[in-house]
Amino acid sequence: MLASGPDAPAADAGAEAWRLVERLYPIPRSLTGDGVRQTLAVLSEHVPLEVHEVPTGTPVFDWTVPREWNVREAWIAGPDGRRVVDWRDHSLHLMGYSVPVRARMPLAALREHLHSLPEQPDLIPYRWSYYAERWGFCLRHRDLEALPDGEYDVCVDTTLEDGHLTYGELLVPGEREDEVLIHAHVCHPSLANDNLSSIAVATLLARELLDRRLRLSYRFVFVPATVGAITWLARNQARLHRIRHGLVLAGTGDPGPLSYKRSRRGRADIDRAVELVLRRRGATGPMEDYSPWGYDERQYGSPGIDLPVGRLSRTPHGTYPEYHTSADDPGFVRPESLAGTYDALLDVVEILEGDARYRNMSPMCEPQLGRRGLYSTMGGSDRRETEMAALWVLSLSDGGSSLLDVAERSGLPFAAVREAADALLACDLLAPAEAA
Ligand code: ZN
Repeated sequence: MLASGPDAPAADAGAEAWRLVERLYPIPRSLTGDGVRQTLAVLSEHVPLEVHEVPTGTPVFDWTVPREWNVREAWIAGPDGRRVVDWRDHSLHLMGYSVPVRARMPLAALREHLHSLPEQPDLIPYRWSYYAERWGFCLRHRDLEALPDGEYDVCVDTTLEDGHLTYGELLVPGEREDEVLIHAHVCHPSLANDNLSSIAVATLLARELLDRRLRLSYRFVFVPATVGAITWLARNQARLHRIRHGLVLAGTGDPGPLSYKRSRRGRADIDRAVELVLRRRGATGPMEDYSPWGYDERQYGSPGIDLPVGRLSRTPHGTYPEYHTSADDPGFVRPESLAGTYDALLDVVEILEGDARYRNMSPMCEPQLGRRGLYSTMGGSDRRETEMAALWVLSLSDGGSSLLDVAERSGLPFAAVREAADALLACDLLAPAEAA
């Protein structure tokens, strides 16, 4: 067995997440419609997902739930009758939310509706038109250039009608009602890193947490971007106060290092926990401050919502050439990257679960640790580290500092700090700050 040691479970999760990405990849997702339902149905094989259907026209804050879009077929046939573009070959070929059309037109007129990437002639771009009624096809620039003059038949057999916006949600209950929110968008068609990577990692993380005894509760939401997140927030206003920490996961499977975008608050516990984890893991991706664009962290960070939700990614969106093109395929996503993201999230969970404030019950100079047998009971993997952690915990536990503060200030791993606190609690040198 090559896979052994503490990293084996994460490696297994990475391989399984990659298979899930590959399986979900061909499903033609969009903002609404059966592709989202099929995607959530696949996730439901792994975790008990609740699927919600919100009717078209439902007001959600300043927005309205849009009409539902579905595709039966979409193609272009050339002058010789052969299909030159077919949505069945790749879901990116049809511009998202294209309105129905059946027409015959010369190439010059057709070209108004064709989108390609002259700089990346072998890639199909990802385009959509959610709020303006248009139709269009996306194709490789090389194929577009090769189209002969003549008359073309166009078929866009889509439906854009009153229906529903679909999203999935799962609560993994802990001892407390306080929640950690994990968000992934589910509206992109055949794109692997953006965001099947995060859909897969979030699903396997939820499944892992379902098997654990937890202090906090974990709420996973799988929603279409923007209007889906807005819909979820509008329908859950009364419960939002329970969310204590949150992460948007977006683009977490590419080969680049992990990166982080802070919540609007900037120094929330989730920001500090993620940064601690990424630093310890040697992640070299950027740590950015909040900005009101990007993914749905901007909904959570809006002033009326004001939740501490940051964003975990690998290579930031828009900065890699595969972004929003057919090159963002399962080959661009690596099992080891998915495993690393999964593992980092478990480290973040460990901090959120284990963080607490304590009071040193023997604060007049340093207590005698040897007399209490503490040096021998703390026999972790790195004994010296655990001893240092005990000294740091005692030193900072004035009731105001948390174990996260201790880990940040000491530079020691959170796990060592938590282990030391447990040993000190066991010999009554430490007590919960609330009870002191
Ligand atoms: Zn995107």
